[in-house]
Amino acid sequence: METRANYVIVGTFVLICIIGLFIAVLWVAGSQFREEYTYYRTYFTGAVTGLGKGTVVRYNGIDIGHAYDVAIDDADPKRVIVTLQIDPKAKIHVDSIATLESQGLTGAIYVEIEGGTATSSLLQAQPGQPYPVIPWDTLDLDQFNLVPKLFRPLLERHGTGWGTFRVIPIESGRGCPYGCEFCTVTGFFGDSIRFRSNESVVDELLLLKRRARKDGGQVAVFFIDDNFAINKNRTKSLLRDIIAADAQLPWVAQISANLLRDEELVDLIAQSGGKWIFIGMESIDPANLADVNKNFNKPDEYAGVLGRLAARNVYAITSFIFGMDNDSLGVAERTLAQVESWPPGLPIFGQLTPFPATPLYDRLQKAGRLVRPKHWLDFAPFEMAHAPLKMTIREARQEVDLAWSRSYSAERNAAALKAIEEHGIEFRVSHFIARLFFRGIYFPQMNKRAWIKLLAQNRGTMFGLAKEAFNLWRGVKKTKRDVVTVPEDKISKAA
Ligand code: SF4
Repeated sequence: METRANYVIVGTFVLICIIGLFIAVLWVAGSQFREEYTYYRTYFTGAVTGLGKGTVVRYNGIDIGHAYDVAIDDADPKRVIVTLQIDPKAKIHVDSIATLESQGLTGAIYVEIEGGTATSSLLQAQPGQPYPVIPWDTLDLDQFNLVPKLFRPLLERHGTGWGTFRVIPIESGRGCPYGCEFCTVTGFFGDSIRFRSNESVVDELLLLKRRARKDGGQVAVFFIDDNFAINKNRTKSLLRDIIAADAQLPWVAQISANLLRDEELVDLIAQSGGKWIFIGMESIDPANLADVNKNFNKPDEYAGVLGRLAARNVYAITSFIFGMDNDSLGVAERTLAQVESWPPGLPIFGQLTPFPATPLYDRLQKAGRLVRPKHWLDFAPFEMAHAPLKMTIREARQEVDLAWSRSYSAERNAAALKAIEEHGIEFRVSHFIARLFFRGIYFPQMNKRAWIKLLAQNRGTMFGLAKEAFNLWRGVKKTKRDVVTVPEDKISKAA
């Protein structure tokens, strides 16, 4: 009896030891497993051909882990959830991004994590996220395609790359301390200026350049900063870095006229890909500019500023405001006389609008001049919300109407192209197309009928450009044929 009891005790002891050992092995293995990797998530929308469990993850080209799990998101079947196991020594920053890359000749897919500036904080899981989420490089760029659907098939079929023309907004800094009376920027963002690092802007441009190469089509950038050159030294240093990194893409930005006196800045704008500068000229009347606290704009400098840009093939979108207190009947004629004497640009015209919380709104309200004090709840495009001093609301509208009609008439379009006839045909075609689109800011041209009418009105210019392009094409073809068929004896004689 005693012996049998000992067997039971010994057997139970051995069993406990085995179970304990088994648990210990599992625990050790589990803790090792947990310690070996940190986990991140990333979400991809669209096809992820070649991506699967075990796909290599690289950080700036160095292997740091692999895809642990790849699954369709139940909540959104277009989305793929990718869980990544990554070496904890790899520091993933908040401004890192993940992309799908393919490897040289083999074409094998891997996940590349890139970007991430040393000064930015490390990526952490946000509340509700099981793991930190690295954004994919999957911004849907097509949402920025400016080519009307009507023209896309035609342009794509002819392989010119113009079936898509995507203008991508990038913000490199925020804020403007100038405090123009009508402007919402200073009140909204404050008068301090904040900038992103040069490095992060350059990285974003490089990323877009790669996307442009991969996706095809045309890509340009719109720096949506309130005043892109508000700190000239910083802007120059950013533009130099863009040039040094070969990160140039065609770009547009908003810059005050006074900042464009600087020749070096204008040189760097041109070299870094700047094509169009939006300039808030507002008025050609210094009294008006003083009224709205924008007398740092000097109308007698406008022609020089535009000439300086045009000399480097950079052109301007010039913005004017009618209905200022010193404006009277004929303001459109007076402004157009100046505009038409400058290098051709894209003028736009609006009316003085008292946006809420601006100094202008307060001034007009105190003076009892607001006729529609809550005009944003009763939106009426191009209809002033207060009465100007020297003309009526109706007259201000007529002035705007005249300015738009004349600036984008078929005759004016032809004259603008004539003024830049020394430029190549591609440049003139893009200028012409820009004019057709800018007209649409004021005149509705959302349907086929409006476009057909517009094209018919501009048929003379279009025919001239088409003829020139055809002659060029025929000339190139003939040159090629001559090169191919030149007899051998002629070659030796010539040699
Ligand atoms: S310079 Fe331009 S952004 Fe700055 S306050 Fe004046 S209008 Fe606004």
